[in-house]
Amino acid sequence: MRPSAKKYNTMYKKRVLERDSYLPRRSPKEIIQCSGCGAFYVRRRWTLSLPGGFSNPVQAHPIYCPACTKTRERFPGGELHLVGIEVADRNEIARILRNEEERARQKNPLERIMRLRATNGDWRVETTTEKLAQRLGRSVRKARGGKLQYKWGHNNKFVRVVWEQRRE
Ligand SMILES: [Zn+2]
Repeated sequence: MRPSAKKYNTMYKKRVLERDSYLPRRSPKEIIQCSGCGAFYVRRRWTLSLPGGFSNPVQAHPIYCPACTKTRERFPGGELHLVGIEVADRNEIARILRNEEERARQKNPLERIMRLRATNGDWRVETTTEKLAQRLGRSVRKARGGKLQYKWGHNNKFVRVVWEQRRE
């Protein structure tokens, strides 16, 4: 990695991880809605549904939640690498990934699949959080067997989960 890219990463993480410092000032009853996915920012967290007692979203310009920001800037928090997927298993594995993402998203709208790149039986699934990459890996293993490996980044933050279909 080039030194400038590394510096950018560090600054980016700081900005995203600092408690939503880029959100505009507003009164406690006012809420914010993400211009990308429509999630609401209420009581210091992001949620898919709007609780009662809150006014309509206020914002003067487009605002994006941390998950949409990561997607727009192509900065994944985790990656699941699926190695050696059999042709007969592809639909089933795609379905497992979609279902698991949907379940995770109901609990936390910031957990999302950003991108899936498939080259034959070799898939790379980019996720907004490392937790989701692990969760997707576990559900694929549970359904299809095989083995999982976890590869941590030097900053202990980014994780690549590698799943391999066992072939004997
Ligand atoms: Zn969003």
